[in-house]
Amino acid sequence: MLITEETQRSIESAFAEMGSATADSILNRTPSPFLPNIVNSDNPLVDAYYMGKLAGAVGPSAVTLLTPSQAQSELFDRGLNNTTDIDRDTLTVLTAITSSRLLFRRDSWVQKVRKLLTRANQEWTSLIEQDSDTTRDKMIEVVKDDCKILLEEAQAEVDKFAQTELLLYFQRGQLRHQAPDTPVFKIPRASACKYCLSLHVKEDGTPITKTVAEISKSSNLDGKPWSWQMVAGPTHPYCYCILFTANVTPVPRPSRILAKARKAALARS
Ligand SMILES: [Zn+2]
Repeated sequence: MLITEETQRSIESAFAEMGSATADSILNRTPSPFLPNIVNSDNPLVDAYYMGKLAGAVGPSAVTLLTPSQAQSELFDRGLNNTTDIDRDTLTVLTAITSSRLLFRRDSWVQKVRKLLTRANQEWTSLIEQDSDTTRDKMIEVVKDDCKILLEEAQAEVDKFAQTELLLYFQRGQLRHQAPDTPVFKIPRASACKYCLSLHVKEDGTPITKTVAEISKSSNLDGKPWSWQMVAGPTHPYCYCILFTANVTPVPRPSRILAKARKAALARS
């Protein structure tokens, strides 16, 4: 056997531990009944939610121009820093979603590394049978490199995951104080995927308007691209479409840039 069961178990648990450490660092200090009535700067996800609340009042573009301390005093001035039962409930639900997704990914990393090690053992057995001159050390080096690649992939995935979750909390914050019939729309970047461009933009480049109630009903979790809808959160992992509410930003007119981008994206498929 190239890799003993004991070694395999310790490699697997290293991957699992990385997943748990990630979960801890992302979810650490998430809403408790003791959440202070200020922006909880120890938790980026909670911060994103409160920044979203501010964006609901001044628009997402204005928020990105504020320094953290400016944002904090704006939140105070507008009384948006208060944590109500609704905020607490929303954050509790969001945290549960984030946590289960993270654990699911952690399990998938462990499974991947398990598969990799099992395959390496099988290869090693067949090499011995073939009297190959490949040395054990050489084979171990190959396995080490493969594990390293897997780890880098997992870390890149964590980064992508955190970005997506931040946007989810931000957009839920944005909608926190909006009436159900408030018109909302999303503006994709010109480089967005074909799904977002066709889902959020009309043929003439006008962003498609829905109501807060309409987008709050749906979620694209586990959905396939053709069933994606406009939702109160990122449309898909790593989605950068920006959510606007019509009570802050006037409903936009047709955009030639978006019309062109949409046409080009659909032509590529
Ligand atoms: Zn997209």
